[in-house]
Amino acid sequence: MEKEADVIEIVTEWIRESQKLIVLTGSEISRESGLPDFSDSRLNPHIKDFREDREVRAQYWRKIKEIYPTLAKAEPNPAHEALAELEILGNLDCLFTQTTDGLHHRAGNSSVIELLSTMQWVACTSCGKDYTLEQILNELDLGKEIPECDQCGKDILKPSISFPGQPLPHWEIREAWMRLHNCDLLLIVGASLDQPPISSFSVQASQSGAKIVIISEGQSKEDEYADAVIYGKPSQVLPLLIKKLKEGITIT
Ligand SMILES: [Zn+2]
Repeated sequence: MEKEADVIEIVTEWIRESQKLIVLTGSEISRESGLPDFSDSRLNPHIKDFREDREVRAQYWRKIKEIYPTLAKAEPNPAHEALAELEILGNLDCLFTQTTDGLHHRAGNSSVIELLSTMQWVACTSCGKDYTLEQILNELDLGKEIPECDQCGKDILKPSISFPGQPLPHWEIREAWMRLHNCDLLLIVGASLDQPPISSFSVQASQSGAKIVIISEGQSKEDEYADAVIYGKPSQVLPLLIKKLKEGITIT
């Protein structure tokens, strides 16, 4: 493995040369904006328990109510801003994310695929009526333990994010597969590759001839298959890559 500074130089060059760059981000990038770990079982119950057990739903909504102020005031951090800049610079084909907080949109990225969908919308699982998360929380503020659908009266409402036991959103995963098939560089930033089918994304990209780069604070078993690994906080590494990238741009 090359020295850290050399790896930064090499990866910058790969980004500069890339025609189809895809970035996959995950929870590390959200944590740097002060957001909680959404893999906490109270925030991520199995769909069967959520549907069948009223107390699981009550606990879920209590927890959402507790974290909402943090979610509402969370701001994009330098990692989000660097990725928005990467899009402006024209080096980014698409951004896939496992985050559900909408901060990539807030930072200004327009080409975002939310692989687990989003926290911002809540749907009734009986009749399909959509609500914003804010509408639901207003209802909870009126004293209800569990939100109820004002169209059909049922009380199994959930954000559109996929809980364990549910497939990931079909369109998003299909779109991701198609884009991975054509990419030449995949940058994996603070993401977890444990969950199928995301676990096979790097293999898919690699088989299509793309280079794989991992940026993360910690080590993972995928590191040995990557073409380069940069250990560090995404909020520090990504701005550094952008700075290097811009150094090579000559304005005429
Ligand atoms: Zn309903």
